[in-house]
Amino acid sequence: MAVTAVYQTEHPPVWSDIARIVNGDIPLKRHRNQALSIEEKLFVLWAVSREWTDYAIAITLHAKPDTIRRYREAIFENPSLTLALPVTKQVSKREWLCRLCGETRPSYLRVVRHILAHVLPEGMARAISLEGLREPL
Ligand SMILES: [Zn+2]
Repeated sequence: MAVTAVYQTEHPPVWSDIARIVNGDIPLKRHRNQALSIEEKLFVLWAVSREWTDYAIAITLHAKPDTIRRYREAIFENPSLTLALPVTKQVSKREWLCRLCGETRPSYLRVVRHILAHVLPEGMARAISLEGLREPL
């Protein structure tokens, strides 16, 4: 029987937004002090979820390591910044997709907590209060 390694070659849903960046196809005229775009922020979240260092992320984006560090610090201070990006999608009545890894959770709050666990230090995501957070309309 043939061995398949689908999970190793299949990319997460966010890939459609970040493939260009991961493949190194970035316009070199990007200004190093330029603010991060939505695609670049998604790439940072994806890379953080795979334990890339700030330095490796900065090299890939042609950005300053400080820019990456500041964005990560902003997320620590205000994790809801993460949710302003297209990191989740409702795929059925009781299924919310994590675009960073492709897993689903049965509610918006659960997928939010799951996504925060990708980008925050261990333990921190669980401790964050999601009180007042509502499903987007
Ligand atoms: Zn995930």
